[in-house]
Amino acid sequence: MINGECPRCKKNTVYRRKNGIISGDKHIFVTGLGFMTPRTDKMTYLCSTCGYYENYVVDKTILSKVASKWEKV
Ligand SMILES: [Zn+2]
Repeated sequence: MINGECPRCKKNTVYRRKNGIISGDKHIFVTGLGFMTPRTDKMTYLCSTCGYYENYVVDKTILSKVASKWEKV
């Protein structure tokens, strides 16, 4: 989706905006990283054809901590 193509409908009609979709609070909390539970923004990618969207954590520090603390899929 980051490359501009919707994974559902395969159209190149994807747009992005920081915290583009909010649910209650515009920030999210990332758990399981130790003593602190950091609050962070999300980058939202949304397809204007089918409405499908994804949210991405973009804070490099949080991404690094998740890679060392969360179970790998
Ligand atoms: Zn789509």
